[in-house]
Amino acid sequence: MSHLKILFLIFIMVSSSIAQASWEANRMPYQTLVPEGAYSLLENQRQAFVEGKLPKIADAVIKSVPIEESGEKIVDIRTLPTPRIAMMPDPKTPSGPPDCNAGSPESSMVRGTVYKKLEAMVDELDKLAPTFGFQKGQVAIRVYEGLRSLETQREVFDDKVREIQAAHPEFTHETCIEEASKWVSPVKNNVPAHSTGAAIDIRLYDLHTNTYIDMGKFGVIWGENPHAPTFSEGLTPEQRHHRTFLLMAAASVGLVNYPFEWWHFSTGDRYAAYWLKHQKAVYGSVVLPSKL
Ligand SMILES: [Zn+2]
Repeated sequence: MSHLKILFLIFIMVSSSIAQASWEANRMPYQTLVPEGAYSLLENQRQAFVEGKLPKIADAVIKSVPIEESGEKIVDIRTLPTPRIAMMPDPKTPSGPPDCNAGSPESSMVRGTVYKKLEAMVDELDKLAPTFGFQKGQVAIRVYEGLRSLETQREVFDDKVREIQAAHPEFTHETCIEEASKWVSPVKNNVPAHSTGAAIDIRLYDLHTNTYIDMGKFGVIWGENPHAPTFSEGLTPEQRHHRTFLLMAAASVGLVNYPFEWWHFSTGDRYAAYWLKHQKAVYGSVVLPSKL
C-alpha cells in the first residue's frame, strides 16, 4: 500500500472517531431508554447549544416567566441521610476545594420536591446503570450545593466578574457582567435559581471505587472551565458517556439541566418552567433567618 493510501486511511479513522466524540454531529443516544419527554428535553437543549441559542439563566426570556410562590417547605439533606444521596464532604472554609461541598449552612437545603426527585433519580440511575457500565446500587448522588443565600450569591457573582476582568483586561465592565452571567446568576433585578431552593449542583459518585465519576472538570469558581457547558467539545468519549448517564437519569424525573453547567439541575424555577413549557415558576427566593 502506498504511503498516500495509508495516510488517507489514518485520516478517515481519525475523522470518524472525532465525529463520534462530538455532541454536534450526533443526536442524543439511547432514545428508547428514557421517557419521551425526557429525551426531547435533552435533544432540544443539545440542539439549542449547537445553534448557539441557549438562554442564559438571567436572560429576558427566563426572567419573563411569572413566579407564583407555592410556599413549599425546604428540607435539609443532612437530616435525611442515605448512602445514595449525601452532601460532599465539608470544606475547611466556604467555597473550598471542588471535592468538598460549598460549605455554607444553607448549602444542604432544598425544596421538598427537589429531594423527592433526587430519590426518584437514584432508581433511574439503577435502571440505566448496566447501559453505562455500572451495577445497580453502585452509583450515588453527591451534593455540592442546594440553597444559596442572596448574600453568598452576590459574593460569588462579584468574584466571577473580577476573575473575568483580570483574565480579559480588554473587556468592558458590562461585557464582564454579561460573561459572568453565563456561569453565575446575578442578584440585581433577578431571582437567582439557587436562592429559591429549587436548584442543586450534583456529581455522581462510584460507591465501588469511592471516586467521583469522571465527567470533566467540575465547577466554575476555580478558574475558567471550558468543559463546564454540558455539551462542550473536547471531552473524552468516557466523559461524554458519563454525562449522558447523569442527564438521562435527571431528565427522567423532571430535573432540568442548565446546559452552561453540566452539574446544575432544577425543578419548578423559571429556567425549568421555560424548558418544560410551564406557564409559571412556583419558587421565588427563600428568605433565610439571619442566623441558621
Ligand atoms: Zn448551580
